Amino acid sequence: MKLYDLAVIGGGPAGAICARDAAEAGLDVVLLEKAHHPREKPCGGALGPRAIRSIDFDISNVIERTFHAALVYTPSMRKVILTSEELIGYLVTRSKLDLFLLQKAEEAGAEVVQGTQVVGIEQTRTGIRALSVGDSYKSHLLVGADGVNGIIARELGIRSKWAPDQVALCISAEVPVSQSDLKSAMITHESNGSPVIEMYFNLLSWGYGWCFPKKNGFSIGIGCRMDKQENLQQSWERLIELIEVEKEIEIDTSNKVSYRVPLGGKLNRYIARRSMLVGDAAGLVSPLTGEGISYAIQSGKLAAKIASEAVEMRAPLHVAEYENQLKKTVERELVDTRWISEVLHKSKRHTDLLFEIVDEDPLMRKYMTNIVSRITTFSDIRGKVGKRMLSKHPLKSIRLGLKG
Ligand SMILES: Cc1cc2nc3c(=O)[nH]c(=O)nc-3n(C[C@H](O)[C@H](O)[C@H](O)COP(=O)(O)OP(=O)(O)OC[C@H]3O[C@@H](n4cnc5c(N)ncnc54)[C@H](O)[C@@H]3O)c2cc1C
Repeated sequence: MKLYDLAVIGGGPAGAICARDAAEAGLDVVLLEKAHHPREKPCGGALGPRAIRSIDFDISNVIERTFHAALVYTPSMRKVILTSEELIGYLVTRSKLDLFLLQKAEEAGAEVVQGTQVVGIEQTRTGIRALSVGDSYKSHLLVGADGVNGIIARELGIRSKWAPDQVALCISAEVPVSQSDLKSAMITHESNGSPVIEMYFNLLSWGYGWCFPKKNGFSIGIGCRMDKQENLQQSWERLIELIEVEKEIEIDTSNKVSYRVPLGGKLNRYIARRSMLVGDAAGLVSPLTGEGISYAIQSGKLAAKIASEAVEMRAPLHVAEYENQLKKTVERELVDTRWISEVLHKSKRHTDLLFEIVDEDPLMRKYMTNIVSRITTFSDIRGKVGKRMLSKHPLKSIRLGLKG
């Protein structure tokens, strides 16, 4: 049986980028993916500039739109614009992005095996074996990139299931719209005419609804933290009604799906013997926005770097360094983001108050825009945000429960 340096389980953005970087670094890599790409993945497809900057090849052919602003609807139906001089994000269709990234992994030399579902993991004396129906793949190291519903975390003994506060349930649909309707229904930025994404914080606590303009329609969805579940189906229906009224178009939701998204925070364990978890499988998603593509890319790249160092040093224990570095960077950021998410979602009053401050204070608007689009990490500006809140908005800060 062939012995690979690295087996990557799952061919979403986390797995594809990891396999691509590891193959570029000279590792003998196999990527096992249960679906055949292009496959559908429920996702708004919005990603910030940091994600694009971190990819060292051109992906402009899969970018459908760029945007400079997000329009937030607060519980009291105040409309707040989050914007910055910088571009704040890109919109993609996941089936196209993921296919493209998988092709890049293949071009770099990774062996991509599609239509192969991994059903178990076996540790051996000299490596690790991924078992699929009727086949198995042996490697020195393994990366679990099999998403929120994956089995690798469980097989490795890292996590048997998500706690209800670690995961959100979403309903979403890709809604086709004619070009003429799209033109009239899409909100555009008043200064440069670029599309604006919409975020609805008025429909439920502990989550939000969204409407993102794509090339041939809208990506619409709503999500809510599992332990705070209100009636998601009812909120979804209200969202569709609201968009139909606002945009004066009929929304076809026949392809709607329900799907989970993990919400990052302090999860503690990301490695096991010879193995690392990346992307959704590791729970690396913003608890504030549900953005996970950029974390998938960041963790996939880090795992590839650590894997190539481990292979070069012939030191499988080096995977511990992946967890060390992930905790200092991504986990720290997600813990901070969870904190701000809990302030924002604590009650409708909290959401209103926070966005009132953002709407009235240009610096707070800039900070919030940067946090939502991940232009800067919340960890980097947490001190500045706290100082500004307490000095310029002391009474509202007290009502939000912020302390000096
Ligand atoms: C409704 C919704 C909207 C979202 N919107 C956004 C957004 O706008 N922006 C954003 O950044 N993030 C968004 N996210 C989050 C984002 O989709 C994820 O964070 C991202 O897909 C994570 O990538 P990944 O590679 O870790 O996992 P995935 O993209 O889930 O890929 C995992 C892959 O593993 C494969 N697989 C699973 N099990 C096995 C197995 N046993 N064997 C082999 N292969 C397997 C799957 O087929 C899949 O291809 C959204 C999520 C949801 C649910």
